[in-house]
Amino acid sequence: MVHAIALVDLDDTLFQTRRKCPADVSEVDLTVMAYDREGQPASFATPRQLAWIEWLRRGTVLVPVTGRSVDALRRVDLAFDHAIAAHGGVVLRPGGLVCPVWQNRIGQAAEAVRGDLEALTAGFDRQAQAAGADVRVRIIAEADTPLYVVAKHRDPAREEELHALAELVRPAVPSGWTVHVNGNNVAYLPPHLGKRQAVEHLLGELRAAHPALPVIGLGDSVTDAPFLALCDFAMIPGQSQLAERAFQGLLA
Ligand SMILES: [Mg+2]
Repeated sequence: MVHAIALVDLDDTLFQTRRKCPADVSEVDLTVMAYDREGQPASFATPRQLAWIEWLRRGTVLVPVTGRSVDALRRVDLAFDHAIAAHGGVVLRPGGLVCPVWQNRIGQAAEAVRGDLEALTAGFDRQAQAAGADVRVRIIAEADTPLYVVAKHRDPAREEELHALAELVRPAVPSGWTVHVNGNNVAYLPPHLGKRQAVEHLLGELRAAHPALPVIGLGDSVTDAPFLALCDFAMIPGQSQLAERAFQGLLA
């Protein structure tokens, strides 16, 4: 029996890379949850996370709400009907079909920010080169629609260097844009793009299909908060960027 609609961020909420797995959980107890482009295991769930994932699989209408591209979402071992990918850039409908209404809306809005995306990419790249940092900066696109800028350090252990560059670039970020900084991941999202915007688009339909079910949102990042606020209940991993912020000043 299904008890809830669950809008679920994936990475660092349900599972994480090997490097971020708790040190006290041994390799043999980890379950592979996602694969990289070469088909190699890339993300893992601990036994407790796996128990929680099983609960979600059995007990909810599970809707991934992820920053992952559609391609990277398909490399996650999780079945779904609806999904939100690419930080809200794509809404998937049952059967894996792209929602044409949403695609149209995003496509039109994207044209107006193409120059800003390119300028931010070049600006971040300049700062990285000046600092001698080995960082990869690029515009993420889906179906030829440019969506957002992402920067990652080629050495994931040096995320602080990446965060310092993000601070240098901050004055060049157009107003109204979302800056996502969490771990080895810095992203710049134009105002029309975001998980919340895509959830707003999809939620009415989900609620109409399941009027008696509560909506639970799950997420670990500060940038998940806007979509979590649309849900009836919000869950955040106790050890996460969002928990740190949410509980700030409340813990002794
Ligand atoms: Mg996350």
